[in-house]
Amino acid sequence: MDDAVGEAGLVDQFEELPRREGGPLARLEDERVPGRHPRFDLSAFAGAVRHEETGFVDPYTFAVTLKEDAEARGATVSTDTEVTGLRTDGGRVAGVETEAGSVDAPRVVVAAGWRTERFLREQVRLPIRPYRTQCAVLDPGRELDAEFPMGWVPGEHVYFRPEPNGDLLVGGWSFAEDDPEGASEREDEAFRDHVADLVPGFLRDFDRARFVNGWAGVDGATPDTRPIVDAPDDGPEGLVVATGFHGRGVMTAPVAASAVRELVGGPAAPFSLSTFALDRFDSRSRDFEFSSISAGD
Ligand SMILES: Cc1cc2nc3c(=O)[nH]c(=O)nc-3n(C[C@H](O)[C@H](O)[C@H](O)COP(=O)(O)OP(=O)(O)OC[C@H]3O[C@@H](n4cnc5c(N)ncnc54)[C@H](O)[C@@H]3O)c2cc1C
Repeated sequence: MDDAVGEAGLVDQFEELPRREGGPLARLEDERVPGRHPRFDLSAFAGAVRHEETGFVDPYTFAVTLKEDAEARGATVSTDTEVTGLRTDGGRVAGVETEAGSVDAPRVVVAAGWRTERFLREQVRLPIRPYRTQCAVLDPGRELDAEFPMGWVPGEHVYFRPEPNGDLLVGGWSFAEDDPEGASEREDEAFRDHVADLVPGFLRDFDRARFVNGWAGVDGATPDTRPIVDAPDDGPEGLVVATGFHGRGVMTAPVAASAVRELVGGPAAPFSLSTFALDRFDSRSRDFEFSSISAGD
């Protein structure tokens, strides 16, 4: 892995480096970029940095694998079944009502994305705000090579990664969404235009790239961009919430799962749950300023 580039960030100024979050970070020497990454044209940038110990997954394969693993261990997965309410009894969780009937349970984990806030509004206030984010896939004509990294472009609201078939996925362009139910699941034309203007500026041979497809979705934001994974003190006993993944719900899934496991009485997570505690917020208002994690500033 020594020479592999897990994630590359293009930077305007190297002085910014110490402020960036994440794991070990190293300057990617200018002379190594053309050799290892011939598709990159960094002439408009000060250079690139490398995040060590990174990788990416295909989210569909990841989700299906988790579902099959859970079923193999005895779980029942009911898709297309709306949960219509939480049942409580004397300050304790008693189960849920669903459109397919009632389910008794001494503990309920509500992980309903941005809808968690609305679902639990009568039981507990959560500072969750919906926001919309999007992706576009480009076929560069000539496939991206196996060394092509994922990365981001500072200040441009985009990140990118190779698709397994050699296409390029560009994502980001995230903004608070006041009408999450009505929000389009298609990417915006403005985003496509932005991608078309931006990408050929730092990747060679992309001026005639073909747009393959795109999509958009709504996630839950929190005021500090970290999720809320907690058994809230002011909620009914037995209730656990896991929400506000703020664009990182796939990559933080193993961490969230460890936290949830501890909260439902399983083994302790190998980290403190205070990072995700609801009481870290002084205000539970949903009316906070949205911070985009893809802005990369
Ligand atoms: C375009 C796009 C790109 C993204 N890229 C990345 C990325 O690169 N890396 C990353 O880590 N994350 C990424 N994300 C974010 C990631 O998808 C989310 O953070 C994650 O899916 C949040 O997980 P969740 O379980 O909280 O919510 P969701 O994935 O929204 O799942 C909640 C589920 O609950 C269901 N639900 C809600 N209410 C009810 C109810 N009453 N009854 C029954 N079911 C209900 C919903 O239908 C939904 O299936 C991206 C998101 C989008 C939209």
